[in-house]
Amino acid sequence: MSITAQNLPAILTSGPTQLLIGGKWVDASSGKTFATVNPSTGETIAQIAEGDREDIDRAVAAARHAFDEGPWRKFKPYDRQEIILRLADLVDRHFEEFAVIDAMEMGEPITRRTNARRRILSLLRYYAGMATAIHGETVENSMPGGDFTTFTRKEPVGVVGAIVPWNGPMVSWIWKLGPVLATGCTAVYKPSEEASLSAIRLAELLCETGIPDGVVNIVTGFGHGAGAALAAHPGVDKIAFTGSVETGQKILMASAGNLKRVTLELGGKSPDIVFADADMDLAVPGAAMACFGNTGQVCSAGTRLLIEDTIYDEFNERLAAYAKTLKVGSALETETQIGPLVSQKQLARVSSYLDLGRAEGAKVISGGERLTDAGRDRGYFVPPTVFRDVEPDMRIAREEIFGPVVGTMPFSGLEEAARRGNDTHFGLGSGVWTRDVSKAHYLANNIRAGSVWINCYQMMDPAMPFGGYKMSGYGRESGIAQFDDYLNVKAVWIRTA
Ligand code: NAD
Repeated sequence: MSITAQNLPAILTSGPTQLLIGGKWVDASSGKTFATVNPSTGETIAQIAEGDREDIDRAVAAARHAFDEGPWRKFKPYDRQEIILRLADLVDRHFEEFAVIDAMEMGEPITRRTNARRRILSLLRYYAGMATAIHGETVENSMPGGDFTTFTRKEPVGVVGAIVPWNGPMVSWIWKLGPVLATGCTAVYKPSEEASLSAIRLAELLCETGIPDGVVNIVTGFGHGAGAALAAHPGVDKIAFTGSVETGQKILMASAGNLKRVTLELGGKSPDIVFADADMDLAVPGAAMACFGNTGQVCSAGTRLLIEDTIYDEFNERLAAYAKTLKVGSALETETQIGPLVSQKQLARVSSYLDLGRAEGAKVISGGERLTDAGRDRGYFVPPTVFRDVEPDMRIAREEIFGPVVGTMPFSGLEEAARRGNDTHFGLGSGVWTRDVSKAHYLANNIRAGSVWINCYQMMDPAMPFGGYKMSGYGRESGIAQFDDYLNVKAVWIRTA
């Protein structure tokens, strides 16, 4: 796709971005900005307002006012539904712009935009539907001494602080925004410092929907500034966080001051298990893209590839051959399948794991070195990398790398597959490739992870819950289960006789 000064999204040409507080676009109170960089070229593409504690105070006050006293309280479920549907229509109309922004700011290949569009619009429309489907229950009670009518009400939890990472800026935002609007909460949103632009553009469109001032506020900035202030703020009722385990732990501790509710969508080291009876034409590309999709910057990526010992060599050969066919390049090129890593920092992190894997004794059979040839010399490109002969206690088998790096290990038999699969502190995704329905069910029951994908990987639907076991966190994104995290349940007793 050729981007020129004429078709560049306006957000990239209109000067430093601002914060959205109480319905007004304003500069950060410090006046500071920071640069955001195109990872395909290493060039600065925009200056972002650097919000900090003072801005978070103002944004929380605006969200608090909108929740406690504003017209939002009087919005019926149907009215909130309309806001979300209007937003969906606006996003649909402007989707190409979002695809370009995310390609230029975080390196998401532009070729993913057809799937991304469907995913984002289906999520928004699902949340719109849910706005009119939330209800309490009437409950039969056994209370002696009179007649009592008892029922429950579901009420919005209040002001939500949403803090997200950079690797799926639109989806992460909508996963938080959708339930906020559907349930009648208000929000202060802190995007990642690596990918603020699509969140800001989405908020601009939100302002066109007729949403009251202060219902949604955006404070861009860094984790140690705006993020930490939001997590600790006494005016916030709930933090919805997606990001790393280390930050999740800090947020949990910061939340203790007012015992705010916390949901945590954290990292992973997901097992992907291939049996000898699998359909190899499905399993080879499936296992490759389970790890290499979005340049491996996916929390539930299948990075521990467990292969039945009888096909270990053959499968590794086919996997490495497939990995070498994947086209790595600028996120805006229409042939690109694997884009750059998001930042110089992430490049350094992934490169250090490439060195570590070799030092630990694993064998590289595809990729393994940063690409610095013509056209890729200034970007942060790492090719799909396959390490074979990985041992379960190696650090590359235990730690989240968050790049296009898969480690393969042999296993023997069903029970060992389950044991090896569960040999991790994480529990986010998992995959199984087999034609045997008994093996599929056994592993669906015995893998301790929030998602089990059988003969497929990374399937997502607005109606299906997504989230973690163990140190991958708690709470769910999408699906009915998510709504309880944004709602309080009130018990009402009425003496009727
Ligand atoms: P990160 O934890 O460094 O940052 C995430 C967000 O937290 C950013 O907005 C950051 O500014 C903010 N932050 C940082 N320090 C903070 C603090 N002390 N207090 C409050 N906020 C703070 O993560 P990242 O590098 O942006 O993203 C990658 C991580 O996210 C990976 O571990 C990945 O697995 C995880 N992730 C999880 C999911 C999921 O659904 N489970 C989805 C995507 C990414």
